[in-house]
This record gives sequence, C-alpha cells and structure tokens, in this order.
Amino acid sequence: MKFGDIVGQDAIKKQLLASAHEGFIPHAQLFCGPEGIGKFPLALAYAQYLNCEHPLPDDACGTCPSCVKYNHLTHPDLHFVFPIVKKSAKKKEVCDDYITEWRSFVNDRPYFNLNQWLSHIDAENSQGLIYAKESDEIIRKLNMKIYEARYKVMIIWLPEKMHESCANKLLKIIEEPSPNTLFLLVSDSPDNIINTIQSRCQRINIHGIDDRDISEALTKKYMLEPSTADNVAHLACGSYVKALDIISLNEENKYLFNLFVQMMRSSYARDIKQIKQIGNDLAAIGRERQKNFLMYAQRMIREYFVSNFHNPQMVYLNQDENNFGVRFAPFINERNIVDFMDELSLAERHIEQNVNAKIVFFDLCLKITMLLKR
Ligand SMILES: [Zn+2]
Repeated sequence: MKFGDIVGQDAIKKQLLASAHEGFIPHAQLFCGPEGIGKFPLALAYAQYLNCEHPLPDDACGTCPSCVKYNHLTHPDLHFVFPIVKKSAKKKEVCDDYITEWRSFVNDRPYFNLNQWLSHIDAENSQGLIYAKESDEIIRKLNMKIYEARYKVMIIWLPEKMHESCANKLLKIIEEPSPNTLFLLVSDSPDNIINTIQSRCQRINIHGIDDRDISEALTKKYMLEPSTADNVAHLACGSYVKALDIISLNEENKYLFNLFVQMMRSSYARDIKQIKQIGNDLAAIGRERQKNFLMYAQRMIREYFVSNFHNPQMVYLNQDENNFGVRFAPFINERNIVDFMDELSLAERHIEQNVNAKIVFFDLCLKITMLLKR
C-alpha cells in the first residue's frame, strides 16, 4: 500500500511523512477515527514507507524487495492482529489461523469494515474478538530477531476487540518494546481500549475523507459521472467504505453490468438471434446511456485484463463484476486487448456521430465474437 493509493487524507500523509523524515518514530501509535476513512491503509502505507529501501520524498518506491513483500502483505517482519472467531472449542483462536484469508481479503479491498471481514470468514453471526491467547503470539513474534527490515511492525486492527487479559499482557511490551519495533494500532472506537494501553500510545486523530477527494476517486476509478460521484460522496459522510457500498448497489451500474454480460455471452456463443436482441435493446436506451455503456465496457475490459496479473490492488471491480471475471477475464489477453479497446471506442465515436445504433451494436458483437477466440 502506497500513500498514493490512499483516498484523500493529505494532512495525515504529510504528518506521517514528516515523522519519517525527521526520524521521530514513536514506537506505539494509535490511529483513531470513524470507520471507513482509511486508517488501516494509512498505517500500512506508513509501515511500507519506513521500510522502503529507496523511498521517494512523498511515497515508497513500490518496487524494492521490501515494497514487493509489503504489496503482498507477506513481509516476514510485518505482523497483523485482528478480530477472529472461534469456530470450534479448541481450534482457530489465533490470527495466524486466518492469515491466508486475511491477506487475500485485504489485498482485494484495502478499505473494509468489521462486518465485511467477519462475513468473509463466514462469521457474520459471531462477534469477532482478539482472544487471550493472541498475546503469547504477539510476544513470541516480537521477541524473534528482525529478519531483514528496518522496522518490525505489528499492526493491530481494532484493539478495542481485544480480550482484557490479552491487553494486560501486552502492556509491558508496548511500553518497552525491543529496538526497532513499531506498534500501529488502528481503532474505530479508541474509548473502548483500556486506558493503560491508550496512554502508552501516541495518538493520531483522523477525520472523515473530504467529499471532493471521495468524488474524485470514484470518478477516476469507477468512471462515475461527476454528478453521481458528488452525490455518492455526500451520502458517504467521509467514509470510503460506505461510498463503495453505495456504488456497488447503484442500479445503473447493475444495469450496465447485465448488458455487458449478455453481450459477452451471446458473442462468445455466436448466438445471432441473441446478438440482434441486444442490438435492439441497446438501440432503445438513448445515446447518452449507449455512450455510458460503451465507456463502462471499456473499463470492464481493462479491469479484466489487469486482473489476469493477479495484483488485486490494481483492480477495481464490485462483487458481481469480480465473480463474472473469474471465468471471463482469461479471455482478455495481450493478443486482443488493443483491438477490443479500439472497437469499443470506435463504436462510441459512431454513436456520437449518430450512426444507427442497431447496426453499431450488431457489428460490435460480431467483432467481439472474433476477438474472444484469439
Ligand atoms: Zn520500496
């Protein structure tokens, strides 16, 4: 996670960068603020920056060996603690039991909340907790020698969910950690953390993201119309998690997605009758929406192409789009991506020039039929 991938929060980024540049790195820091505003991505980007081998003035390089491991959340000196559930009486009570799920979850969406995480591990009806046993794990990991990093980092997400006996056992190590150890605590409700831990941490108060920054991110990453993006940003009240929730439910988006799926399926199946039907359906929705659809299709093709590189941080798809991509994305490759984009933007131009929409879309589907076989 680089600072550049974070939505807004410029003041906090500057503050964290200044702390890094001045070499003033408090060994226990508490990132507090409401849910969904980017506290966790900020903590992660900060840790990555501090360990980057070739840092730029305002961001990590993203490509050095340390950054590469941070990108995959697999750096041996980067540890995570987060709420989990006990699935049976004895098994699964430390975070490492869930570390694979955690990495893929965080990589897929660096902005998330507790409900999303719990539903990812099928625990919606149980309460997530950091169990007492976790303190032994934390102490064991922090007593190990640093493998290769400048700083050994322990990110504790939602310390307010920590069992009291776990919290009590950590007091000493938080107060006197081994050298070059960093505790980054990320809390939605710091008042629920026991005082003795709160008082041992340097507190960083983070506020909601500016509407303008949310709106800009939505226009750029999801190609929302600026007016729609403004509207979503306003509804989201500073939370990017909430903004993403809103757009994933956005009706127009669903409509465009269904059209896209139909178009790809019928083109792949060479189903002429179905292809004609799609041309007719699209011809009936008006030019502005036709253009939106073609822009949406270009974004989908690009996202599916990128998703083949298995770097989920670069991919911006909602759940339905992602699910369709599991089987569809492999059909978009370096042999057809350029022609795909060309055909879609050509169709867009034709629509702009008032060419008969039925013909434009029928023609487009036939070309897609051929491109999908490459
Ligand atoms: Zn780097």
